[in-house]
Amino acid sequence: MVQVVNRSDLDGIGMTSRRTRERLVQRLVDQGIADPAVLEVMRATPRHLFLDEAMAHRAYEDVALPIGYQQTLSQPYIVARMTELLLAAGPLARVLEIGTGSGYQTAVLAQLVQEVYSVERIKPLQLKARQRMRRLKLRNVHMSHADGSLGWPERGPFDGILSAAAPQRIPEGLLQQLAPGGRLVIPVGTDAQQLQVVTRTHEGFELDIIEPVNFVPLRPGTER
Ligand code: SAH
Repeated sequence: MVQVVNRSDLDGIGMTSRRTRERLVQRLVDQGIADPAVLEVMRATPRHLFLDEAMAHRAYEDVALPIGYQQTLSQPYIVARMTELLLAAGPLARVLEIGTGSGYQTAVLAQLVQEVYSVERIKPLQLKARQRMRRLKLRNVHMSHADGSLGWPERGPFDGILSAAAPQRIPEGLLQQLAPGGRLVIPVGTDAQQLQVVTRTHEGFELDIIEPVNFVPLRPGTER
């Protein structure tokens, strides 16, 4: 199920030209992203709308970019990679995202799964992300201002959980909110972080270590 965002948001501006986007997608392919649905959504999602104006001209570079409050919009490669890992076992109905940030990863997920539940601890970031969802008419996104290390127990269990912030150890609550067969994609560690995939099986949990990554820390509590 791929429902790409309205194309009229993509046209007209130089930095969003088809060629610029094609270059980004080609880079993702070169880096090993292979899921055609993920690539199509990366091509269709206007990343410049998730940045403040001063940063927007860099939107289609494959780098992480500042979004204020000492947080960053993740690099397109890592967004594509985590999305691909989350979807690897088949289509997903309910997905929990921890760390809405700009909402870019949220928007990518919203085009590939049925419902996205996204938790952010910094209120102003959440408010901006919510406006962006509205602008892109992504109506299957539900947001919460809370500490995502607790998950979102009222809305679980989830077929997939994706965290954009790194804990030192995987919070127990997240494992408990995984549906059977569900997968958690999460960066873990402080200095040397690793991207991990945990799958809930009938016997318990299976762990795959994917690759070294560099995420902001998962922090406790919330900020107004
Ligand atoms: N996918 C986002 C990444 C933003 S960076 C994007 O591309 O824009 C990670 C985000 O996680 C930050 O916004 C940070 O505030 C948030 N975060 C960190 N710890 C959190 C927690 N415990 N609960 C919810 N969000 C958290």
